[in-house]
Formats: sequence, structure tokens, C-alpha cells
Amino acid sequence: MKRKLRMGMVGGGNDAFIGAVHRIAAFMDGKIELVCGAFSIDPQISKQSGEDLFVSPERVYLNYEEMIEKESLLPEGERMDFVTIVTPNFLHFAPAKLALEKGFDVVVEKPMTVSVEEAKELQETVERTGRTLCLTHTYSGYPMVKQAKAMVKEGHFGKIRKIVVEYPQGWLSRLTEREGNAGAAWRADPKRSGKSLVMGDIGTHVAHLAEYVSGLKIEELCADLTTFVEGRLLDDDGSVLLRFQNGAKGVLMASQISAGEENAVRIRIYGEKGGLEWANEDPNNLIVKMLDQPRQLYRTGNAYAAPYTLSSFATHNTRVPAGHPEGLLESFANIYRNFAATVTAKREGRTPTAEEQDFPTVYDGVRGMAFIDTVVKNNEGTEKWTKFVL
Ligand code: NAD
Repeated sequence: MKRKLRMGMVGGGNDAFIGAVHRIAAFMDGKIELVCGAFSIDPQISKQSGEDLFVSPERVYLNYEEMIEKESLLPEGERMDFVTIVTPNFLHFAPAKLALEKGFDVVVEKPMTVSVEEAKELQETVERTGRTLCLTHTYSGYPMVKQAKAMVKEGHFGKIRKIVVEYPQGWLSRLTEREGNAGAAWRADPKRSGKSLVMGDIGTHVAHLAEYVSGLKIEELCADLTTFVEGRLLDDDGSVLLRFQNGAKGVLMASQISAGEENAVRIRIYGEKGGLEWANEDPNNLIVKMLDQPRQLYRTGNAYAAPYTLSSFATHNTRVPAGHPEGLLESFANIYRNFAATVTAKREGRTPTAEEQDFPTVYDGVRGMAFIDTVVKNNEGTEKWTKFVL
């Protein structure tokens, strides 16, 4: 396919937060162009957003139903190839399902849906239609996260015993949802957010990170959810004990009342021989701590000699030479680039490489929804441990 992939957007207008980040990420490698959108719940904002983004006025649609229907009727050489869905959580499932059924690939924000049932239906739809669904678990796109995963996989640390993930934020320390913040308002509304605020908004990111880097699946958990801010309708803080397959144990903390914190995502993993540490606020560093050795610092973009050579997954997802910082936008762009490469390879009848296929999918989305359900069920019930049921 000797052309860019054509992207349509649902949400992400001038009234939105993450939509603009998606566009930067999608355009970074020159493989994707924006051709249409239903950019906002407000038609005026959608129209203005389309104008600002230089989208042809006839391809700025009133709603996602009209967009998907009308685009599907355009000739092959014109119509969009995939839809990016960046709406509030309760509005992920319907556009994703419709797009897949009409033959489009999908990029969708996390949490993938608001229930396990919807998530499983999307899985069934992906399997039946053969389309590609990419879920934007942003933190899994960093080169040093990929390096961490590769080192765990090759047995560098021995059998994994302990996995600790944290995501503290402070922006919901007050009743932000009543202060005219639209993003906080839908997040704190059970009808638009889902069963859990903190786990849907940020907990699934670190649950995914724990499974992605360790290569192990969560099997059971014990959770404690709290609503600290008076008047709030959903939880804003959570601590979860995790039991993984193979006997590894873990701790997950997700909190939006950790006053003063920004996006302090951190993962630590310990095996029989040593451990690793990676943090979002210092993303080009991977700290490796081996028993009986000085601490080591792996840095993005270096051509280290063996046995320190960075993995092909880390280098594939690095754009600039060592010492030039890469961050969240590049991590996000890695997800888009791998998704685009996979979609293109499938259309050309080729099998994408393992590096190209390395982005979160519908299966991660189903696990994310099951994670939220299991946490809420355990928190509300009386049993000590609740099995992670898919
Ligand atoms: P937001 O409230 O800032 O923006 C939502 C957008 O969706 C707005 O443009 C709104 O007008 C639009 N919208 C609402 N209903 C619509 C409809 N029916 N049709 C078309 N557009 C509609 O929200 P946000 O912070 O950008 O979050 C959007 C999604 O992205 C959420 O699911 C959130 O969890 C996720 N998110 C993910 C990350 C990440 O790191 N991956 C970061 C932030 C947000």
C-alpha cells in the first residue's frame, strides 16, 4: 500500500483533552492522515474543530453513526481506513462495534468499554470480522518499558516473585467535577465512567503494565476502594493485592487524591536474581538491580555491546540518538506506528513482524474490564480473595 492510512475521529474536538495527543502521535511518522470526524457532542464545536484541522467540511459529520455509514459508502480510494475513538468511556463500545461491522479498523481509548459483556462482544466482533483493534495503554509504548519486558522474558532476573505498580495522581483531591471541569464531570459520573472511577481511569493502565512487562497474568486479587472526597459518586483511591500465575505476588496502587502528584506511574519487578524499576517521570531510564552487583542504568538509544545490547523491541520503538529525550508523545506514537504497520501488512497479505504487532489489543481490553469488575466485586463483598474471571 503506497499511501498513508486514512483516519477518522470520534471525539477529540476543541473541547477535548486527549484527542489532540492522538493526532500528534498518529501524524508523527507520516504514515497516517486525518480525513474525517465527528469531533464533538456539540455540532458547532465539531464543525469548528474540523475547520481548524483542515478537514473537508463535507466530511465533518453530525454524529459517529452518520460518519461510519457515509464513509462506508465512499469509494475505496477515498474512504477512511480506521476510526480513533476518544470519547468518554460509555461511548467507546457503540462506535467501535459499528466501525468493525462496517469493515473499519479501530483505535480506542481505555477502558475499552464500561462492562465485561461489552468488551467480550467487541472481542467476538474483532475475531469474526478479522479487523484490528488497538487499545491505547500509553505507558506500554516506551522503549525502556519494552526493554524491561524483554529482559524479564529472557530470564535476566530469574523466576519473578514480586510485581509492584503505582499510579498516583492528585488532580481529583477536591470536588473538581463540580468546578466546571467537563473531563472530571463525566469521569465521576457512574453512568458515563463505569463501575470505578480510579480503576477505569488509571488502574487499568498499571494493571496492563504489570501484565505486559512481567508476561504474567493476574489470577486473584484483594481490593480496597475508597471515596475520600465528600460528595463524589465514585471511588477516588484504590489499593489492590495481586496474585499472578506461577506464584508471583503483587501490589497495585491507583489514586487520584495523592495531592501534589502528577502522573507518577512506576513499576518495580523482582525475580530470584535481581529486579528492575521504571518510572514515567524519568522514562528514558531503566534501573536494573542485580544481587551482588552495582546498580545499572540502561538508557534509551544506546548501542551497548553484549551482554547489555538493547532488545530489538526497544530499538524499534526509539527515534532519536541517545541523550535526546523521548517522552509520552513518542510512546503514544509507537502504539500508532505499530498499529499502522500491522494494518498495512495485513492488507498487503504479509504477516506483521513481532515488533509491529506489539501494541495493546482487544484481549487487553477484555482483561482491563475484568480487572475493574473483579476489584469492585471484591471490594463490595466479604471474600478475602476474588478470582479473576474472564
Ligand atoms: P474529554 O472530556 O476531554 O473529551 C471527550 C470528547 O468526546 C469531547 O470532544 C466531547 O465533545 C466528545 N464527545 C462526547 N460525546 C460524543 C459523541 N457522542 N460523539 C462525538 N464526540 C463526543 O475526555 P478525554 O480526557 O479526552 O478522555 C477521552 C477518553 O480518553 C476517555 O475514555 C479517557 O479514559 C481516555 N484517556 C486516556 C488517556 C491515556 O493516557 N491513554 C489519557 C486521557 C484520557
